[in-house]
Amino acid sequence: MGELNQVTLEGSGTGFATTKLSELLAWARKYSLFKYPFVTACCGMEFMALSSPRFDHSRFGAEAPRFSPRQSDLLWVVGTISQRQAPVLRRVYEQMMEPKWVLAFGTCASCGGFYDNYTTVAGIDKIIPTDVYVPGCPPRPEAVIDGLLLLQDKITSGDRRPAIVKPREDPIRDLVSIGKKPSAET
Ligand code: SF4
Repeated sequence: MGELNQVTLEGSGTGFATTKLSELLAWARKYSLFKYPFVTACCGMEFMALSSPRFDHSRFGAEAPRFSPRQSDLLWVVGTISQRQAPVLRRVYEQMMEPKWVLAFGTCASCGGFYDNYTTVAGIDKIIPTDVYVPGCPPRPEAVIDGLLLLQDKITSGDRRPAIVKPREDPIRDLVSIGKKPSAET
């Protein structure tokens, strides 16, 4: 991408201007994600909670759903995907315009969850490329917001490697960080 002219904002120490068109585009894209919700199962209840005013993911520019894949750039796969649904999901993904991203919402979408049987797809990455995995059955809305922020970071950096949302609380890690040894009860 070509360089843009540096802009100096006189009399202000807080102003800035990006110098690369690619950075400007990434900044615009990460705050204007249009989601296509592919909701199939019980994770959908938590998806509704995420959309409520309490968690308000419109703060991140990602609240507007589009029910046409051609108008979407972020595919949210929410719930279990059966073998019969797999071609439909693949078709939806193929109809989305580039650049596009995929978020696996919950353990079933990420790896099939406890549905270890012949009818269930063991993770949507068997069908489509996946950018962010949000584990949990279902994941808490806070974890999904973490996944959204993780995706925004990846859009900024152009990193297309898959990433997994880490748990906010890890008792063993917390004990180790303060120099204590985890016990059997931890
Ligand atoms: S991860 Fe749990 S809550 Fe989500 S679809 Fe699977 S079984 Fe349902």
